[in-house]
Amino acid sequence: MAKGSISVDSENLFPIIKKWLYSDKDIFLRELVSNACDAVTKLKKLAGIGEAEIDGDVPFKITVRVDKKNKQLIVSDNGIGMTEEEIDKYINQIAFSGASDFLAKYKEEENEGAQIIGHFGLGFYSAFMVSDSVEIDSLSYKEGSVPAKWVCDGTMEFDMSEGERAERGTTITLNIAEDSEEFLDEFKIREILHKYCAFLPTEIYLENAEDDEKEDSGDKKDGEKDEPKPINNTQPLWMKKPSECTDEEYKEFYRNVFMDFNEPLFWIHLNVDFPFNLKGILYFPKINMEFAGQEGQIKLYNNQVFVADNVKEVIPEFLMLLKGVIDCPDLPLNVSRSFLQNDGYVKKISAHITKKVADKLTGIFSSDRQSYEKYWDDINIFIKYGCIRDEKFYEKIKDVIIFKTTGGKYVTLDEYLEGKDKKEVYYVSDAKLQSQYIKLFEEQGLEAVELPTIMDTHFISFMEMKNAEVKFKRIDSVLSETAEENAGDEEKNKALVEKFKNRINDESLKIEAQALKNADIPAVMLLGEESRRMQEMYRSYGQQMAGMADMFKDEFTLVINTNNDLIQKLDTLPEEDAELVMDQVYDLAKISHSPLPADEMTKFIERSNMLLKKAIV
Ligand code: ADP
Repeated sequence: MAKGSISVDSENLFPIIKKWLYSDKDIFLRELVSNACDAVTKLKKLAGIGEAEIDGDVPFKITVRVDKKNKQLIVSDNGIGMTEEEIDKYINQIAFSGASDFLAKYKEEENEGAQIIGHFGLGFYSAFMVSDSVEIDSLSYKEGSVPAKWVCDGTMEFDMSEGERAERGTTITLNIAEDSEEFLDEFKIREILHKYCAFLPTEIYLENAEDDEKEDSGDKKDGEKDEPKPINNTQPLWMKKPSECTDEEYKEFYRNVFMDFNEPLFWIHLNVDFPFNLKGILYFPKINMEFAGQEGQIKLYNNQVFVADNVKEVIPEFLMLLKGVIDCPDLPLNVSRSFLQNDGYVKKISAHITKKVADKLTGIFSSDRQSYEKYWDDINIFIKYGCIRDEKFYEKIKDVIIFKTTGGKYVTLDEYLEGKDKKEVYYVSDAKLQSQYIKLFEEQGLEAVELPTIMDTHFISFMEMKNAEVKFKRIDSVLSETAEENAGDEEKNKALVEKFKNRINDESLKIEAQALKNADIPAVMLLGEESRRMQEMYRSYGQQMAGMADMFKDEFTLVINTNNDLIQKLDTLPEEDAELVMDQVYDLAKISHSPLPADEMTKFIERSNMLLKKAIV
């Protein structure tokens, strides 16, 4: 038996490994199973080029065995195997120095590092996170090989001896530490395998030593024994050629992976071999746009091994609103977050995905505008967010941005502006609250577009920045289009305005008389677009800035409609009635702009009741 010391000059690595990764211990299993999978892949490759001989009847497989009684977790494969020399080279030297380099790097960036290691793992040595000691039993595929056994108890010392393994491949036995006994629970192990290894290319079987005992003791009758099933799908849909996948397969994959039983709207199958390797499927989910804080899920894989969800260093941020899987086999994963952020390769991946998404959108728009319009309510937030976050994305899709009109049509900016003198886009942010204004607009054959979400507020500013000549105006800030040129007798109007001024007695309120085309409405409240935006902005900053918002309060204008009967009759009414009418008209105008404060509302209701009585009784 050979004894040796693992060759590093750094201090003892194991205590560091043990306490470092407490937050994400699970990944040790991913590391071991993906090593096993690599071992199979390597052997298959060698066999493929005639360098190794394999028995075609014996299927390749990985077994993960839970043995609670003996406190062991065992991962074995029938892959390439290792000779004693190889264990020495790959485990004692390379793997160890790899792991110690890795940890040394992250010791400095403690918080950030811990997370990144959590995502990307540190290879074979992560087994020591959960084990008191680890054994390797291996038999190389090479002819005439002698089985080798390596044992290490988490100190710098290891034992190497001749082993007993009779079949080609490797068995890693973990003697689970007391503080990690959760990893002796079959369900826990199943859960981890399901999370990280669900799409590995070699079949993985989970075994429980307790089941063998049951069988031995005859607890299970003959024929009751189920045919063991692998826990993974070795050929995930994203690895297939897009031309070979059916719609039903895409939908089923979506349901299985995201547990979302709403059908996705459409999807993009990414399949690139050159200049980099990238495969994946991005789904546009059906989402409820009422909630701006929509969260998607992009699962990142490295050669079919799950790495993490929503790794924002790799995937363009705005794509996080989608759901999907992305497999980047060449991704340099054992690196820090700041490296990933600045890596040219990662940038290229991002750019490629963005381009594909833009192509898909413009493709649907031009080939099937009807469907595109149907999708719009679901995808618009994503598109708007993408535009704001990514200039290039905007440039690619700017011609397929559409707006939903209050009349239920969908138009592009150009279509909306066609034939208009002013490059102004009128919009509503709350179709219910602004219904009065919408009515005024529609009666004039004018159309406004709906931009109701918080994202829209940002998007409006963005669009104005990109289209300098275009101005967006909420419909309660404009009325000129609905007023007649000739507002009637100037003197009379002046007197009318004075009358209201005296009654309302609010210096900050502007009052105007105009002849609106719609005679039914006695008055409307307007708020200048700019000052409203300022108010909204300050309010969004929260409590401290709320005072600033008040500064813009004086920008309200009350427009009295001289075409309205009631207003025309005002002069003929007894003083008391005229005051009632003016108060009521003012409140009504305010209500159709925004809700009244509680005390004003009470007064309004009292007055309404009184007016009813006057009219009827
Ligand atoms: P990595 O997998 O990133 O190379 P690891 O520390 O996980 O690093 O593994 C070190 C090396 O040990 C592997 O590259 C491989 O050569 C060898 N190895 C690990 N597990 C196995 C296995 N199950 N079968 C054959 N070789 C293995």
